[in-house]
Amino acid sequence: MGISIRNIAAYFFSTYLLASGKLRKLKAAAARGEFIISVYFHDPSRELFESCVRWFQQHGFQFISVQELVDLLRQSKPFPPSAVVFTVDDGWKNNRTNIAGIAEKYKVPVTIFASTDPVEKGGAFWWSYAAKAAQKGLITETVSGLKKWPDTERKILISKLAETIPLQREAMTIAEIQEIAKGNFVQFGSHTVTHPILTTCSDLQSELEIKDSKTTLQNWLQKEVHFFAYPNGLFTQREINYLHHSGYDAAFTTVPVYITP
Ligand SMILES: [Zn+2]
Repeated sequence: MGISIRNIAAYFFSTYLLASGKLRKLKAAAARGEFIISVYFHDPSRELFESCVRWFQQHGFQFISVQELVDLLRQSKPFPPSAVVFTVDDGWKNNRTNIAGIAEKYKVPVTIFASTDPVEKGGAFWWSYAAKAAQKGLITETVSGLKKWPDTERKILISKLAETIPLQREAMTIAEIQEIAKGNFVQFGSHTVTHPILTTCSDLQSELEIKDSKTTLQNWLQKEVHFFAYPNGLFTQREINYLHHSGYDAAFTTVPVYITP
């Protein structure tokens, strides 16, 4: 990871949290079980992910799984002191060593939400084709601009780009998912089939993305998939309804808040 504006901003923000005593107060509130902290990752380095696990462990946090979180909410049980939930989006290839390896080493539960098409078909995630094409001057639209396009139009553009710009696989393989799932600490959830922005999909597309990714993952894992993460965290009541119909128990978004009862 290079030094970016984001890193510098994070450095000043964390320094402020430490210096102002805010972090101490937040830790005390977490210790009283007022909320649960939920942290999500995409494709962290092994060093970054390990340092996050160690930080929470050294500060007295206990890791709980998504299933334990859902059980607490369903049974209206009080939150345990200093609890944290780790989730990971997309299903990046590097997650095998950088996430699963560390989760098993430190015995911490992690849920990886994988999109099934990039796993099944190889190649890169769609935004990598768009970013590469923009870099080469083939398109003028940005990745964040494309996220607002109607999904069918975005898919047509991306499949054209994928034919002209060959990119290496970015997601894990089916065999890697099956191998990781054999461990004791990593479980998989769904993150749609093609990683569209669900709110830009037609009713039928949105429903299929939610339903088919669950069926596919269940076939690979030979067990029930209960959890889902919205691509980009975006959803409407329509997606919640499809999740209910498809038999999911919980879904994750990206809103930066603590989990409260
Ligand atoms: Zn994602």
